[in-house]
Amino acid sequence: MDLKKLANALIPDEDLLPPEEYEKIYPPRSLPAGAEVTRLAPSPTGFIHLGNLYSALADERTAHTTGGVFYLRIEDTDEKRKVEGAVESVIRSLRYFGINFDEGAEIVSDLNAYGPYYQRQRAKIYRSYAKKLIEEGKAYPCFCTEEELDKVREEQNAEKLVTGYYGKYAKCRNLSEEEIYSRLAADKPFVIRLRSSGDVANKTSFCDAIKGDITVTENDQDVVILKSDGIPTYHFAHAIDDHFMRTTLVIRGEEWLSSLPIHIELFKVLGFKPPRYAHTCSLMKMDGGTKRKLSKRKDPELSLDYYRKAGYYPRAVVKYLMTILNSDFEEWELKNPLADYRDFPFRINKMGKSGALFDLDKLSDISRTEISKLSEEECYEFLKGWADEFGSPADKAHFEDKEYIVKILALVMGTSGKKRRKDIERAEQGVNLISYFFDDVFSPEYGFRAAREDVEKALSLFAADYDPQDDNSAWFSKVKKVAAAIGYAAETSEYKANPQAYKGSVSDVAEILRIAVTGSPNSPDLCSIMKILGKERTLRRLERAANTAEGGARS
Ligand code: GLU
Repeated sequence: MDLKKLANALIPDEDLLPPEEYEKIYPPRSLPAGAEVTRLAPSPTGFIHLGNLYSALADERTAHTTGGVFYLRIEDTDEKRKVEGAVESVIRSLRYFGINFDEGAEIVSDLNAYGPYYQRQRAKIYRSYAKKLIEEGKAYPCFCTEEELDKVREEQNAEKLVTGYYGKYAKCRNLSEEEIYSRLAADKPFVIRLRSSGDVANKTSFCDAIKGDITVTENDQDVVILKSDGIPTYHFAHAIDDHFMRTTLVIRGEEWLSSLPIHIELFKVLGFKPPRYAHTCSLMKMDGGTKRKLSKRKDPELSLDYYRKAGYYPRAVVKYLMTILNSDFEEWELKNPLADYRDFPFRINKMGKSGALFDLDKLSDISRTEISKLSEEECYEFLKGWADEFGSPADKAHFEDKEYIVKILALVMGTSGKKRRKDIERAEQGVNLISYFFDDVFSPEYGFRAAREDVEKALSLFAADYDPQDDNSAWFSKVKKVAAAIGYAAETSEYKANPQAYKGSVSDVAEILRIAVTGSPNSPDLCSIMKILGKERTLRRLERAANTAEGGARS
């Protein structure tokens, strides 16, 4: 058969460059020895999840710890899945977590010499190579309809055989010249398939950068490389793009492992040196005692928006993912508490070989620690950013008063420099935690335990004597004075020694004041809270609580 004529009949495009030209257009990158070129290659569906972030972090760390390049390629061959603004959203989401691309789709960079980075814009490259394969007899047209393929699949299923287009089931593999041209003359749609030369009886060993040595069975499927609309399949585009974009390490989900034999064969027939591969394990969670994959449908925590809305500190999410990526990260962090996580010697081959367990509680712990390391100003900026985007109108308004919030944060976070409190876990929770400092949303349900009469007396006596200039010890002396005046022990030790002699102790009186001023029996230092609130607001709260006090029964 005249294969050149066939190639021209199947791919008549006149504007294709000869395949070898692309080797010149996209020469090997000049990078230092050991530098890795990695990429994130999402479809533009607009949904970017934790798995993508996890993978992107492995890509980004690999590239940037080796002096290489991390780029963004958009796999938009499936037009139906395209969502407007999706590419920008991927870039923005990753940037929020401190992950930046060096080159690629929508990235402004001098490096962008390996584009275009949208697969749809690379049609000529794929077509040029498909044509070459047809000319070499390594690819052929297939005219089978969906119905015919379904029938074959049913037959294979019934006989418990591997499904697909191979061996005797590859009906169009040996069509005669006449048969091909008569179908073309009848305008029958066709796809281009690889003429596989593999044999499933052959097994080879393959070294995956994460999984180590694995056994791979040769591919014998005549997979589609160009669809009937001339658009390449993932397999074909992957081989061509990762070759010409000079990717050195393909990091991708383990769901692609089963396609690896196809990719190995494609690289071989195309005459390209394959990249190295690292197949990452899936993120799992514990669900009722069993471990299962995180699912888009069941688990809101798979979406990255979940972390932004809940206000986890972005660096905490990244650090948490680092602990999953490389299990020695935590130990390194303990030894280098002040170091940037980017200084950690990340290595792809230290990644876990099987299901990584995702644990929200651990993330929360890390988020508390990261937030506790912020200065009050930084924490203010972080909480304000969240309030502006996700908070209520009241939250937004509160954050207009920076000075006031910084004072509150200094108290809630504990003295800078000394051991910080870890009360703020997430922005959403942090904003709620300090909301009692604002009158417009302060609507306590006073859960006083003391008798109502005592509550009223304690509040009014304290109010009469309150002076915001008092330091902590003067303030506490006044609380003791109130305690003694209403029959409570001024010293806890006295109460413990002789409980029958008192209605309670000074700590019960402090609790009354605390509930009146903050609405809760637990809070940071009350004397400081009163100072931040100011005299007027404090007195108003004491009075309001005295008037509306729901205490225990009157004694
Ligand atoms: N577009 C593929 C995906 O989103 C890319 C897989 C790969 O990284 O090669 O799953």
